[in-house]
Amino acid sequence: MAEEMKKGPRDNGAPDYKKNLHPLMAKNYGQWASHEKIKPGVLVHVAENGDKLYTVRAGSPRTMSVDTVRKICDIADKYCQGHLRFTSRANVEFLLAEEKDVKPLIDEVKAVLGFPIGGTGHSVSNVLHTQGWLHCNLPGTDAAGSVKALMDTLMKEFESDNDLPARVKISASCCQINCGGQGDIAINLQHHHPPVIKPEGVGICELPKVVAICPVAAIRPRQQDDGVTTLEVVDEKCMYCGACHGQCPTMEIRDAKTDTLTIWVGGKTASTRNGPSFMKLAVWGLPNNAPRWPEVADAVHKILDAYKATAYKYERMGEWVERISWKKFFELTGFPFTKYHIDDSEMARTTYNTSAQVRF
Ligand code: SF4
Ligand code: SF4
Repeated sequence: MAEEMKKGPRDNGAPDYKKNLHPLMAKNYGQWASHEKIKPGVLVHVAENGDKLYTVRAGSPRTMSVDTVRKICDIADKYCQGHLRFTSRANVEFLLAEEKDVKPLIDEVKAVLGFPIGGTGHSVSNVLHTQGWLHCNLPGTDAAGSVKALMDTLMKEFESDNDLPARVKISASCCQINCGGQGDIAINLQHHHPPVIKPEGVGICELPKVVAICPVAAIRPRQQDDGVTTLEVVDEKCMYCGACHGQCPTMEIRDAKTDTLTIWVGGKTASTRNGPSFMKLAVWGLPNNAPRWPEVADAVHKILDAYKATAYKYERMGEWVERISWKKFFELTGFPFTKYHIDDSEMARTTYNTSAQVRF
């Protein structure tokens, strides 16, 4: 009976992480006394019994070939008993039991992979971007490519951990659904007109689902003269979010001629000090200028320069702006304040930031 009741192996959901811990982590689970930064990108955790576990953090290009992943694994096999992990910002962290292996590992990561070491402390950690064209049918820009171009200009900020007042997390999203989430600095693609419906293709979609997906109820069914049901969009209600395009590709909202990029500032999900906060629009209407997006990099560096010059130590980007005022922020950075910076959404409220779990 007991055998009959036995469940099969679990084959979905997150695996049991304890099976994959570095042996020193498993041995000292819950018994770590302290940790410190040895140098940019290198940490040591000290257990209560004196065991030490070293971590080397490298920036990854996020979108990697199988060949590159194999090379990363070979390095982990050589120095880390096969153990490494990826952070939520796609840094690669190598875990080492021996201090003597730290330098050879760093040399090999640089020589074989060409990855920089850093991203700890008061640095710009690896820039997070959305899944983009790899998995999504909505992207209005190349999230992976634009972030690579931006990171190339931020090597100094990644490799140094005391150049900035506090850590700076940057994210990029290829539409306003904003899978990249909140960031100290966030780059978002914006559309500027309602979706253009291709009536001949509407039949391929489940119309009730397309109607239901619209957050402002701007889509409704329409009966054509020939009796065929199609859809229409109430332009005045549409806020150009693009959610309907995900539900039905015939609702085409992407437009290479009019789509632009925006930069938002001051978001964080950490509960530290003043709690989680939502980012706010800082720069509107930058060109979606592939393949290097120089206007975006220029704007990000202007924000970082102003932040470096006037923020207090440990002050995150959003806390800095709230202290100096948004008026001062626009003066320091030189960005124009436009009508698009005024949040006039009738659904806006003041208490979005009530939980670290909430995203908008
Ligand atoms: S941000 Fe938008 S386009 Fe980019 S991956 Fe997410 S849903 Fe798709
Ligand atoms: S773009 Fe967004 S707001 Fe406009 S119709 Fe589509 S889902 Fe609705």
